[in-house]
Amino acid sequence: MNVLVLNSGSSSIKYQLINVETREVLAKGLCERIALKEGTFIYKDVQGTLIEKKLELPNHDFAAQLIFDELFSEDKNFSVEAFGHRVVMGGWYFDDAVLIDDDVKAKILELAELAPLHNYPAHAVIEASMKIHPDVPSVAIFDTAFHTTIPAKSSDYALPRDIIEKYKIKRYGAHGISHRYVAEMTKKFFEGYEQLKILSAHIGNGASLCAISHGVSVNTTMGFTPLEGLVMGTRCGTIDPAIVTYVLENSDMTAHDFFELMNKKSGLLGLSNYSSDLRDIYFKSLEGDAQCRHAMEAYSDSIKQHIGSMVFSMGGCDVIAFTAGVGENSAQVRELALEGLEDLGIILNQDKNDNVDVSDGLIADISHFKSRVRILVVPTNEELMMAMDTKRILAEQTGD
Ligand code: ADP
Repeated sequence: MNVLVLNSGSSSIKYQLINVETREVLAKGLCERIALKEGTFIYKDVQGTLIEKKLELPNHDFAAQLIFDELFSEDKNFSVEAFGHRVVMGGWYFDDAVLIDDDVKAKILELAELAPLHNYPAHAVIEASMKIHPDVPSVAIFDTAFHTTIPAKSSDYALPRDIIEKYKIKRYGAHGISHRYVAEMTKKFFEGYEQLKILSAHIGNGASLCAISHGVSVNTTMGFTPLEGLVMGTRCGTIDPAIVTYVLENSDMTAHDFFELMNKKSGLLGLSNYSSDLRDIYFKSLEGDAQCRHAMEAYSDSIKQHIGSMVFSMGGCDVIAFTAGVGENSAQVRELALEGLEDLGIILNQDKNDNVDVSDGLIADISHFKSRVRILVVPTNEELMMAMDTKRILAEQTGD
């Protein structure tokens, strides 16, 4: 079964056409800088075709058409049996992936109020896929669905009830597709042992931790929006909310300006005043740049602090699983984040940590033999998880 997985962001669409049985990626690529100056379209496939074009991409509908035109052109004509759409905000409606119909589309639009940068583009691309192939089923896979199991004591913010209810404020979390994939791979690694307490650490440009007990999310560091929690590439993570009102009252900035500043100009970029990319920061700190060194330490220390909060939230930890760009590739960040936790039974094997290579897609165990908590590097694959979810939901529908 070929599933076309579509991941629509605020200014991009990433796509992969995956054969779910063989797990082969038949074609993949992306449209970038949608509705901005000079967009990019990239297409690669198993036959070795590589197309890269610079062109104006006025909106998501237009970008989706370009992708479909390429995949379903006369010469390539890939078959597609289902579409799998990533939708960031599933709110209170969706605790699992779902077959898309008119009702689901209406709910995705209703929830766009809480995640306008993501749900509107996802809705536009869903409409485009249903137009191009009306008979091919579409499934929505929600980033928030995995976190609907978080108990109210951990997902509620201590604000007045009327405000919480009026604005539907709670911890919705994010990165749910990746955290669930990591949990499933980790469970397989331990041969299906169900009771595991897993701390999944998705550390990339965006970053979050998730406490997973008995296979379900019981807490996560991202909150009402992905801004909360860890220091990230350009996001500040958790700060004292009084800083916001203090700066707004004492500057010319608008609420929107400060929101942009917290999301796009803070984190590694803000602290280093150099880059949001961990590799850049690392190499610059090796050259002796003090601000870059400090940025990397603050980024890693925030992981450590939040590990504490997640581990206590689930009452212990059997496995810490690092994933995503930094989690899979940076020995330095893993080391800084776990440094000093030896008395808590969290001990890295330095040699194994320095020599991780998960490019084969397999899990690496980097724990010291004396470590009570197993420390793993688990390469994430959100696209494959989405393709498998799509197949599962369709099988549930038909009773296969
Ligand atoms: P996102 O999907 O949130 O944009 P990724 O998971 O792709 O982010 O992670 C991007 C981050 O991973 C960047 O900061 C990048 O520098 C870092 N990264 C990627 N490869 C390496 C590497 N080999 N060593 C250190 N950091 C890396």
